[in-house]
Amino acid sequence: MELRVVDHPLVAHKLTALRDERTDSPTFRHLTEELVTLLAYEATREVRVTQHTVRTPIANCVGVKLAQPRPMVVPILRAGLGMLEGMTRLIPTAEVGFVGMVRDEVTLEASTYAERLPEDLSGRQCYVLDPMLATGGTLAAAVKYLVARGADHITCICLLAAPEGIARVEGLLDDLQVPCHLVTAAVDERLNEVGYIVPGLGDAGDRLYGVV
Ligand code: URA
Repeated sequence: MELRVVDHPLVAHKLTALRDERTDSPTFRHLTEELVTLLAYEATREVRVTQHTVRTPIANCVGVKLAQPRPMVVPILRAGLGMLEGMTRLIPTAEVGFVGMVRDEVTLEASTYAERLPEDLSGRQCYVLDPMLATGGTLAAAVKYLVARGADHITCICLLAAPEGIARVEGLLDDLQVPCHLVTAAVDERLNEVGYIVPGLGDAGDRLYGVV
C-alpha cells in the first residue's frame, strides 16, 4: 500500500480545527467536507482519463475527460458518510456505493452489516472513505470486499491514521493483487488501549452526528 500524507498548510489548519474538542458538530461536518475535497485532489492523481478534443472559441484543443467506467466512491457507514459531499464535489459524476461496517468494541474486529454496491466492479477505480484508520480491520475488510468484486485500483482516503493501523492494513493486504493507496492528512502518534487514535479527534461518527 502506498502511503501519501498530504503536507499542505490548509490541510493542517482544517485538521487542527477538527481536532479541537470545542468544535461543534455543524462546524465539524463543514470542515470535514472541505478537508476531504483537499485530500481528494491528491487522491485522484491516478484517476483514469481518456483523450477528449473540444473546440475553444479560437481553435481545437486536445484535452481529457474522466474515463468509463466512472470512479466508484464508497463511504464506510456511518462516519464515512460525512466525507461523501467533499468527495463528490470534486468528482460529481462518480457513482456511490455503500458499505456498512461496525467494529466490535471488545475484539476490535470489523464485520459488514449493510452493503449497496454493484455485483461487478471489474475495471473500476474505487475511493474508500473512512475518516479514522485506527486498528485497520474495517478498512482492510472493505478493500478486500471491493477487490473480490473486481475493483482493480483502490484509494483509501482517511482524515487521520495511526501507525499501528497502517501496519495492520499493510499486513492484511499483503497479497492484494491490485494497486492500493492511502491518502491521509496526518499519521498520529499511536492508538490508546481502547483503540482510539492519540491525539486524534475523538469518535469521528459522534462528532459528525452526535452520540447515539
Ligand atoms: N474511530 C474513531 O472515530 N476515532 C478513533 O480515534 C478511532 C476509531
